[in-house]
Amino acid sequence: MESTVPSKTVKGGMSQKRYDRIRDDALNEFFRKVAEEASELLLKQEKMKNVIIGGPGPVKDMFYRKSYLNYQIQNKVIGVKDIGSTDEYGLEELVVKSQDLLQEAAITKERELIQKFFTELKNGGNVVYGYEDTKKALEAGAVETLLISEAFNWVRVKFRCTCGITTEKEIPKTLVDKQKCSNCNQKLIEEGSTELADELIDKATSLGTKVEYISTESSEGNQFKELSGVGAFLRFKLS
Ligand SMILES: [Zn+2]
Repeated sequence: MESTVPSKTVKGGMSQKRYDRIRDDALNEFFRKVAEEASELLLKQEKMKNVIIGGPGPVKDMFYRKSYLNYQIQNKVIGVKDIGSTDEYGLEELVVKSQDLLQEAAITKERELIQKFFTELKNGGNVVYGYEDTKKALEAGAVETLLISEAFNWVRVKFRCTCGITTEKEIPKTLVDKQKCSNCNQKLIEEGSTELADELIDKATSLGTKVEYISTESSEGNQFKELSGVGAFLRFKLS
């Protein structure tokens, strides 16, 4: 929508005071129209989580401060950002300049998700954790949402030993060079390895299962990392 609000400085014979009042009225009317249109469009977006307002100059701050938007939309505003343009490039610029807000929103979502996970766990709800159990649940088609920490670093490694033995283990990457032969107790030699995170994610994706990546930016994310860094919300309980 284009503003028809007149410029700040009076033209012609009107007193500045009268002119300011006319300008304020026009601005108010424009804000009201923009808010009405924006609210109508945004209320239809059922999956919309947050709103960021952007624009050049002080107008956007006024628009936000005076709560022109429908209260449901206004409540979702997580920030107001200064940008250069008001066209589609402006939208792009807004996304770029809002990385901090988006990051924060993602962490909030992650916190809530992990809190829900631990509450379920405490109450014996439909959750699993740890590589083995999560993999089992995934293969049984029981996983609703797979949770995987960015710090999850398990690998499946093929080893051999100079004594002739070969073996395969699923272990954290940090333990790979600490493995000893069960036959002769020599240090095992790594022959090749597969990232288990990739395998779990591929499996989930092929089943159409939702995957949530958990960062280590929040205390909840770190708690989850300590709890093996992999887990899931289940559709049903596994026996
Ligand atoms: Zn050996």
